Amino acid sequence: MKRLLIFLFFISFYGNSQNYQDIERGRNFCGSLAKSFASERVAEDALGRILSVFGEKRNFVVQQCDNVSNAVATVLHPSTIRYIFYRKGYLEDVNSNYPYLNTKYWSNMFVLAHEVGHHIKGHFSEGPDTSIQEAQMDEFEADNYATSILFHLGATLSQTVAWTNNMLITEGDYDDSYDEHPTYSRRKSAIIRAYNSLSNSTPRTPKSDNTDVADMYITANDIVLRYLERIGGLEKLKSIETMFVEGKTKFQEYEMEYLSVLTKPNKFANKISLKIDGNTNTLTKIIFNGTKGVMLSDFQKPIYFKPKDNKIYSFKSMPIEEINWINNSKIAFVTMESGSKEYAIYSQENQITYFDANTGLITRKYELIDKETGLAPIPGKETTSTYTFYYDYKVFNGILLPSRFKLFTQDGTTIDFSNMNYMINPAVSKSNINSLFYFE
Ligand SMILES: [Zn+2]
Repeated sequence: MKRLLIFLFFISFYGNSQNYQDIERGRNFCGSLAKSFASERVAEDALGRILSVFGEKRNFVVQQCDNVSNAVATVLHPSTIRYIFYRKGYLEDVNSNYPYLNTKYWSNMFVLAHEVGHHIKGHFSEGPDTSIQEAQMDEFEADNYATSILFHLGATLSQTVAWTNNMLITEGDYDDSYDEHPTYSRRKSAIIRAYNSLSNSTPRTPKSDNTDVADMYITANDIVLRYLERIGGLEKLKSIETMFVEGKTKFQEYEMEYLSVLTKPNKFANKISLKIDGNTNTLTKIIFNGTKGVMLSDFQKPIYFKPKDNKIYSFKSMPIEEINWINNSKIAFVTMESGSKEYAIYSQENQITYFDANTGLITRKYELIDKETGLAPIPGKETTSTYTFYYDYKVFNGILLPSRFKLFTQDGTTIDFSNMNYMINPAVSKSNINSLFYFE
């Protein structure tokens, strides 16, 4: 939609910045992290069965990843993007068609439930473990969670312990004094104890509360399509060739002006200016000409987009970038953190977009950006984050768009544009519009 955030480059940040190491690590073991959002039905279904036992909501992304041996839970950005990575093909054996006969099914379900357990029990929300003992406690807790899931899903003791048993046979035990994972024999005994402590209880009937089940199975595509339908309908949105967006606000004691031009298929230009002593000063100008981009200002040398930024922008289907999110996004989690229910989806590796579950409209976007340039994060360099909230949706030429943006940066800066105006397919010649995207 409207890229407002880049100009943050010019507002200095002194807030806490996040370490990018986690994303780097994620990328290192998943070369395909950014590209492959295709969701696998088998994995989604298995996950649905696990979460249905206690009616828990998903708070993580499930992502196929070539470089993990089976499955692993991790967090790439603290308490924002929680992942379970799994190897392609690994979950094929959790196909629900032949569950009870297949030991492999239960082994894999155990591993998946163990990883889910790490997220459900919040093992990543307080940063890395501080000691081996603490890390091992987390492993026992995740095993304990997986054991109860398998018990309630109908696994026998030997099926529940099958994975651990197999590891014990194939890999054997090792000295775990310095290892975050306790030995397989310690884990096996704990699983048997946990299973036996449940064996007198009646297996739970999976929760079938309609809303929970709906939330469990809702896909990113459902959410994106609903949004596009809600704001004008896909056909109408696809007919938008060009959009002008303008807004004014006060920034400190100055009048700030925002102007942007978005045109098909992916060209984008915006300008932020400040009125100082009656003169209009351009603070930043960002131009993306369809192939490459630049950030220009009165105070600095041009900053050319990095290949990665060019790639991100090439991919945006301007003027309505959400059109390209169809089949390219992934549900991240369902949340009530702002008081009403929101669906969070992940459309790029550094961006989460929240949708109001009732209205279907976008409520806010979270972005992790490079601290220095405001562009896409660069591995090894400091990052910061911003939230943009969207309110007061109004109809502009038949399209429902937010008339108010409110931007919050991590250092506490707030910028509130309250009277955004949109011009859809304005009467401006193609060559005049194209000239706006010219730069050297
Ligand atoms: Zn674990």
